[in-house]
Amino acid sequence: MKMAAGNWKMNKTPNEAVEFIQNLKDKVKDAETEVVVAVPYVAIPAVVETCKGTNIKVGAQNVHWEDSGAYTGEVSCSMLKELGVQYVIIGHSERREYFAETDETVNKKAHAILNAGMTPIICCGESLTQREQGVTKEHIRYQIKIALLGLTKEQVSKLVIAYEPIWAIGTGKTATAQQAEEACYVIRELVKELYDEETAESVRILYGGSVKASNAKELFDMPNIDGGLIGGASLKLDEYVAIVNYNK
Ligand code: PEP
Repeated sequence: MKMAAGNWKMNKTPNEAVEFIQNLKDKVKDAETEVVVAVPYVAIPAVVETCKGTNIKVGAQNVHWEDSGAYTGEVSCSMLKELGVQYVIIGHSERREYFAETDETVNKKAHAILNAGMTPIICCGESLTQREQGVTKEHIRYQIKIALLGLTKEQVSKLVIAYEPIWAIGTGKTATAQQAEEACYVIRELVKELYDEETAESVRILYGGSVKASNAKELFDMPNIDGGLIGGASLKLDEYVAIVNYNK
């Protein structure tokens, strides 16, 4: 099943989030796509409540790798798990750029999320300079290699990895379906190399970067693209619904 994961970033208050989900739920109830909304921490309890009895799953946009302690301002996996969170986005390029996220912290977070019984959505992707220098493949291979360090085959088979070229995020510039497919193929081949073919087949690989209703089908129909991580378009009801129902 393809996945349409919305990354709301720092948008919508709890009340606005609930209103959005109330309007969304009937429109996606027959979707053949897995629907995930990664909402701001403070909206999680209300959104989980509103999603009860629906096919919408709730995600967070970050987490700390320690389970408790003196980490002012941070939130742990057990806190998210208790609220009913199922997915956690880690390694988003905005967190890498503005909040010092590194491949090593992504790896620690991946372990913590899996140990807590949730699913990480691990983001990777190259900058425009890296693409122009022709090092896209090496860069994403390196990011994913570090992110997966120490994870078992069973853990990796449950993962979601999102390929998000930085130059396509929030810019309106989408990678062509061919470019996106090539990078997702690189990731699947790497998982095969590090684990085996079965694991590579079961890991889900998303494309992210200006996915919209008008390009979702072309992207999601690619053999190595299992859906999308959707930023801006996931905040607009009709646009997001059209992405979720891309195949109808
Ligand atoms: C994102 O931030 O994960 C993203 C893909 O954003 P957008 O769809 O707005 O480019």
